[in-house]
Amino acid sequence: MARYTQPVCRRCRREGMKLFLKGDKCYTDKCPVSRRAFAPGQHGQNRKKLSNYGVQLREKQKVKSIYGILETQFRRYFEEAERRKGITGENLLQMLERRLDNVVYRLGFASSRAQARQIVKHGHILVNGQKVDIPSYETKVGDVISVKEKSRQMQVIKDNLEANRNVPDWLQLDKDNFQGTVVALPKREHIDIPIEEHYIVELYSK
Ligand code: SF4
Repeated sequence: MARYTQPVCRRCRREGMKLFLKGDKCYTDKCPVSRRAFAPGQHGQNRKKLSNYGVQLREKQKVKSIYGILETQFRRYFEEAERRKGITGENLLQMLERRLDNVVYRLGFASSRAQARQIVKHGHILVNGQKVDIPSYETKVGDVISVKEKSRQMQVIKDNLEANRNVPDWLQLDKDNFQGTVVALPKREHIDIPIEEHYIVELYSK
């Protein structure tokens, strides 16, 4: 499967902001964005004002980096977002939020979406009691996401839950039973990512 090979912190520096791709490190002073808040590379400190196209492109790249999606899959998400009722940009973000790997991250079973993806792919997660090892699985209201009985001993999952991260309102966590429920579909105000999605719609609507 194709995947990003670039060091992830470079992606944050390229966007000039923290995208929180590395879990706990992002909250420490080891974060390179805190130390070097300019783009990587020889000309990184001479950043010019972006054209309209540049702004649209960067907004798309940010979302792809945050959710760990490659171009082809992202394009498919966009086409599906256009087909669904409602505002395309919001539909797009809602679909990305509903991905199983994102839900595992949002519930606090993982410290980053990348770690959540690994946990899902390695078969540690059940949806309504059945193993689902597809990170892109689209969760729906009423789905119960749980950690497999045997996997509850994994130190990484226990540590993540102990960190008591904020769980968004559209999910309900039952920490003692290593499970969470999707109680509503995420609305735009629940999605706390620094994105102006209308730029992405403009980019793909050319
Ligand atoms: Fe981005 Fe986290 Fe790396 Fe900081 S530590 S640059 S927020 S991935």
